[in-house]
Amino acid sequence: MFEATTYQREQHFLANYAFHSIDTKGRKYPEMEHPYRGPFQRDRDRIIHCAAFRRLSEKMQVFTAHFGTYHRTRLTHTMEVVGIARTLGRALALNEDLIEAAALLHDLGHPPFGHAGESILDALLSYDGGFDHNEQALRVVEKLEHRYPGFPGLNLSRELLEGQLYKKKKQGTPLLEIQICDMADSIAYDTHDLDDAIEIGILKVEQLLKTSLWKESAKRIRSRWTGLSEDEFSSVLVHDLIEIQVSDVLIATKQRLIESGAQTAEEAKSGAILVAPSFEMAEQKAEAENFLLTNVYKHSTLLLQRKRCRQFIEALFTFYADKPEQLPTRYQSICLQEGIKRAVADFLSGMTDGTVWNLGATLTPKSPADPSNSLSD
Ligand code: MG
Repeated sequence: MFEATTYQREQHFLANYAFHSIDTKGRKYPEMEHPYRGPFQRDRDRIIHCAAFRRLSEKMQVFTAHFGTYHRTRLTHTMEVVGIARTLGRALALNEDLIEAAALLHDLGHPPFGHAGESILDALLSYDGGFDHNEQALRVVEKLEHRYPGFPGLNLSRELLEGQLYKKKKQGTPLLEIQICDMADSIAYDTHDLDDAIEIGILKVEQLLKTSLWKESAKRIRSRWTGLSEDEFSSVLVHDLIEIQVSDVLIATKQRLIESGAQTAEEAKSGAILVAPSFEMAEQKAEAENFLLTNVYKHSTLLLQRKRCRQFIEALFTFYADKPEQLPTRYQSICLQEGIKRAVADFLSGMTDGTVWNLGATLTPKSPADPSNSLSD
């Protein structure tokens, strides 16, 4: 039987500019190598088996559970990012294990209710270091998860931790594998938020034809298919938009890689970001994102609901900050080490949307005129 080690396989299949597992800087708490799993395969498995990852299934991406069951959750968003990132990574002969682990990690620190939850926690901690979901993902995997007797957190490889830190600081240039995840994240949400908004009824298909990216996509679809229903059209639109953006990024990135002359992973991250769309696609993407911001993310229904979510988180925050003895034991030790506010933020950010919605409602009086009363829990 032929048995190839991770290192041999990577030597064979990966480009010179890919990050090869043999070059890993290792883990904070040294561990023996696994006999047949590479370091980033182990990281991937550790993330999938952690509690914070499973809770992504009950955390929102843009739309809360009140809008039904069609739309993306933070978990399904993450899986779409993994898929797009691996497609890009495989086509560029990059390290897919590292890409997959980084993509699974990228939203692990999101608190309940997405950016609404993040903004209120950040305000509540404004004099205590603030709250940022990218940074929180690092706290989760370095401190808050308790799954292994030998160390706190998941003891992930340094390349993953550095990649996640880049997402917060945006300083320097990360490995190509990390750049791929950022790109895939953006392609995924631009596309699926559109699909969700159409399904939920916040957007009408005709509105899309005002932006060039979607207009061109609609033209391609109509030249290929006739008589599509609105539902069929929006499904085909999602596939087409992903395909066209992934293909564009691949062509533009290959060209930049050739021009850079990079022969190693280090050289590939020594200059500007290389994984990016073409200039024309970047402009079209910006136009589409602007449209989503105005017509979806700032839609009055969402703004109103976000206000309610923020009230619930604030009420829970005040409750636990006043009574830290009610926190689970390990969060009480964070109170002693890093202060009550950080411990409460750690505890609340690990909750699911449903938990916060139910607990928050018991602490927050509802005004009879509040339209969120009509949302079913
Ligand atoms: Mg994301």
